[in-house]
Amino acid sequence: MTAEEFIKQAHDQSKGKVCSKCKEHKLLSEFDKGIRHKDGLQYQCKSCIKEYKDNVCRFKKWFQNKKGRVKQKGNVEFTILPTDIPGVKIREVITKGIGENKYGSFNRKYKSWEATEYPKVCTVLGIKLDWDMNGCNNNSPSLDRVNPKLGYIKGNVIMMSNLANKMKNNATPEELKQFSEYHLSHQQLDTNPNQIGLF
Ligand SMILES: [Zn+2]
Repeated sequence: MTAEEFIKQAHDQSKGKVCSKCKEHKLLSEFDKGIRHKDGLQYQCKSCIKEYKDNVCRFKKWFQNKKGRVKQKGNVEFTILPTDIPGVKIREVITKGIGENKYGSFNRKYKSWEATEYPKVCTVLGIKLDWDMNGCNNNSPSLDRVNPKLGYIKGNVIMMSNLANKMKNNATPEELKQFSEYHLSHQQLDTNPNQIGLF
């Protein structure tokens, strides 16, 4: 880098640019690299991209994965839209891609959607749903088919935790009832030591 280039870069750095999402003027160091963009930086600032990744895309990513997996297996119908899952609200998003890349300038519009609301807790157990998708655990979101003989169709899906869905699939309603009654009666003994003397 020549001294002139260095000065120009330092000058650009102090100028910063406006984020296309939050419209704030920020230092260039607040933008990640975007190799195909003319200025070599992303249009959105780091915190806007992080916010998008942390919140908005999580549900969408999960939904698309789920749909892909079901369709790949091919034995169960999957016709639901995101909004057919209780507790989900979406909005249409039109992303404008205006800029220049190494092939010249472009001006495109992309139609897409993002979730504005989606379940944060299990409908059955009330436990927190873990949307981070770092593997599968009891708190992972699990889309239950109310009637397992039917597919993922409107009116037949409920969002619950993986734990609740495993309980439902591994035991009959009668077994779950017996389990709850047993567990509740023993819990009572635990909290009321006087009762233990009765035995
Ligand atoms: Zn921003």
